[in-house]
Amino acid sequence: MEPFIIDGKKISQDIKDELKVKVADYKSKGIEITLAVIQIGDDIASTIYVRNKKRACEYIGINSRSYELPKDTSEEELIELIEKLNEDDSVNGILVQLPVPDYIDPMRVTSAISRKKDVDGFCPYNAGALSLNVDGFVSCTPAGILELLKRSNIEIDGQNCVIVGRSNIVGKPMGSLMLNNNATVTLTHSHTKNLKEVCKTADILIVGIGISEFITSEYVKEGAVVIDVGINRDENNKLTGDVLYEDVAPHCSAITPVPGGVGPMTIAMLMNNCVKSVEIQK
Ligand code: NDP
Repeated sequence: MEPFIIDGKKISQDIKDELKVKVADYKSKGIEITLAVIQIGDDIASTIYVRNKKRACEYIGINSRSYELPKDTSEEELIELIEKLNEDDSVNGILVQLPVPDYIDPMRVTSAISRKKDVDGFCPYNAGALSLNVDGFVSCTPAGILELLKRSNIEIDGQNCVIVGRSNIVGKPMGSLMLNNNATVTLTHSHTKNLKEVCKTADILIVGIGISEFITSEYVKEGAVVIDVGINRDENNKLTGDVLYEDVAPHCSAITPVPGGVGPMTIAMLMNNCVKSVEIQK
C-alpha cells in the first residue's frame, strides 16, 4: 500500500501565510505583536532554534525581542527578567528557550511566565486548561500534530489513538488534545507492558520517545496513521525519527516523514500562539 505522506512543510507554510494576513490586519488596526525570546548560554542547538523562531516572526510580521543571557545567569536574575516582561504591556509573548542550564529549575521558570503570555503553553495554568478542555495556550508540538491530522482530513472522533511517550511537552498534552477531540486515548511509556500489542490497537499511533527508528512494522496495525515526533541524529549527523520509516510506511494509510513532518509545525504553532495572545490579553 502506498501511504499518504503528510507534508508538514507545506501545511506549516500554509499556516504561516494565514497568520501573516491576520497580523497585517491587526497592524492596520494599530495592533503590534511582540515576542520576547530569552536564551541562556550559547548552546548550538538552542541558538539554531531561537534563530528559526526569530525568522518566522520576521516572515509573519511579529516583532521579536532577544534576551541573550550569559551562561552563569542565576535563576533569580532570570525570573526578575520574566517578571519585568510580564508587566511590560508592549510584550505579548514570552518564551524561554529550553533546556536551561542544570542549576535552573525549568518548572520554576515556566511557572513564572504570565499565563497570558505563555506562548509555549508550558506553565501549570495552561497545562491544566488543556486538561480541563478550556481555552488557553496549547503546547506547540501537540497543537501542530492536531493541525496535521485535521488539515489532512484524518478522522479523530472515535478513533483509537496510542501515544508512545508521556513527557510534559509532547505525550501528556497530546493525550489531552486527542481526548478533547473525542479519540479513545492510550498513553504509553517505558514501563508499559506488551508495547507492541498496545501499539497494534492504534488507528492513530503518535510516537515521541527520542529513540532512533524504534518503531518497526511489528508495532503498527495495517492501515494505521503514524505520526513520528522524534528528532534524532545518527552517526553521520543525518536526521532520523523514532519510526523506521521504510519498514513502517507500506503498512500505513498515512505517515509523517522526518524531516518535513512534525518538525516544521512546532514553530508555525508558536507563531499561532503569538497571534492568539492578542485575543487572550483582551
Ligand atoms: P522525553 O525524553 O522528555 O520523554 C521521552 C518519553 O518516551 C518518556 O515518557 C519515556 O518514558 C518514553 N520512552 C522512552 N523509552 C521508551 C521505550 N523504550 N518504550 C516506551 N516509551 C519510552 O522526550 P520528549 O518528549 O521531549 O521528546 C521525544 C522526542 O520528540 C525526541 O526525539 C525529541 O527530539 C522530539 N521532539 C520533537 C519536537 C518537534 O518539534 N518535532 C518537539 C519536542 C520533542 P518514561 O516517562 O517512562 O521515562
